[in-house]
Amino acid sequence: MSVKIPRGTQDILPGTVEKWQYVEQIAKEVCRNYQYKEIRTPIFEHTELFQRSVGDTTDIVQKEMYTFKDRGDRSLTLRPEGTAAVVRSFVENKMFGDPNQPTKLFYNGPMFRYERPQSGRYRQFVQFGIEAIGSEDPAIDAEVLALVMDIYEAAGLKQIKLVVNSLGDVESRKAHREALVQHFQPRIGEFCGDCQSRLEKNPLRILDCKKDRDHELMATAPSILDYLNDYSRTYFEKVQKYLTALNIDFVVDPTLVRGLDYYNHTAFEVMSEAEGFGAITTLCGGGRYNGLVSQLGGPDVPGIGFAFSIERLIAAIEAEGIDWPFESSLDCYLVSLGEEAKDYTVKLLYDLRRAGISAERDYQDRKMKAQFKAADRLHARFVAILGEDELQVNKINVKDMQTGEQQEVALDQLVDALKTMMEAK
Ligand code: ATP
Ligand code: MG
Repeated sequence: MSVKIPRGTQDILPGTVEKWQYVEQIAKEVCRNYQYKEIRTPIFEHTELFQRSVGDTTDIVQKEMYTFKDRGDRSLTLRPEGTAAVVRSFVENKMFGDPNQPTKLFYNGPMFRYERPQSGRYRQFVQFGIEAIGSEDPAIDAEVLALVMDIYEAAGLKQIKLVVNSLGDVESRKAHREALVQHFQPRIGEFCGDCQSRLEKNPLRILDCKKDRDHELMATAPSILDYLNDYSRTYFEKVQKYLTALNIDFVVDPTLVRGLDYYNHTAFEVMSEAEGFGAITTLCGGGRYNGLVSQLGGPDVPGIGFAFSIERLIAAIEAEGIDWPFESSLDCYLVSLGEEAKDYTVKLLYDLRRAGISAERDYQDRKMKAQFKAADRLHARFVAILGEDELQVNKINVKDMQTGEQQEVALDQLVDALKTMMEAK
């Protein structure tokens, strides 16, 4: 029996990988405009990092982590998300010492979660995310939201919705927490086991439960927005004011709480409203995490970030029926006739490639007709045909595959001639 790919993972083959490169390129360009710099952290970290940051009451830590012991008996975990590692690195490398704050970083790489695979949900997926660490100016919150909406706009998405909420500061959350406990306690027996244990540890998590989402107590649960203290309320108002000034549409949803423990103040998601996007509509999630840096041993500096998966971004682009802007990527196919001509193409091909012209030839000893077919399948822009007779007189025939026009050029002029013809297009 042959060995198959592990469940929930995928091969990204040529033909599809171009989509990945395209959207990753867009995201990186937008990050450049906003001055976020790339950071690369290890694929695995000490398990403790995620327990301490993501939180013991979350789905991720409770049931989704790929955790293993290495040969030195250390508990390591394949990273399930990016923020914890970026904050660890921020602390470890003392980035807070840079006079320019916030520290603005982006990452792009694989994450691992033991989930039930379905469309838009994989066990290995690629997250693109950013973090701005070191400022509690609501203008940074607006900047982070603007950045993600810019990425989606550059990718051509139109049917998307930005949903924002405020989870308040520690004081506001405490008051809200008490109200939640009072609300759920009398009937907590009707909820799932996870929710029952969340009631004491972190009742806010109940609002994020996927099993009990339709329970009548969910809709009537106390809204965090009614428990925001003055500072938190003013903060949230400022964020909204800035978004309005930037002409960024959004809706406020007080039930949005997000899956990770470390969020406070601004929390947000971007949803796809495209028909056919599927059951999972969240494209991106993020928020502010003011206690996280100190919790991981750093100074008490605030942070905010988001992450989205490339898988869901590509799915959203396809659900909206947006065309991929790829062109034929082969500039020239060399067709040759006869042994001598074939030998000659070895060096000719090399010269073309080194001049920045993408070029290909036949390696299967095929007849001329089959070589032309190959050029067609590769969407060659030009085909250069070298026969014995042409070789005798140092000439080669170049055919423009779009117009059908053919012209003869001197062999040592081929590179220049092709360049001129490519530029003319
Ligand atoms: P969900 O409610 O869909 O499980 P989440 O709250 O677990 O999402 P986050 O941890 O906030 O998601 O991750 C941020 C983003 O990463 C999501 O909005 C989504 O784009 C992407 N993402 C999360 N889990 C997966 C997965 N298993 N496969 C593909 N993309 C994912
Ligand atoms: Mg999840």
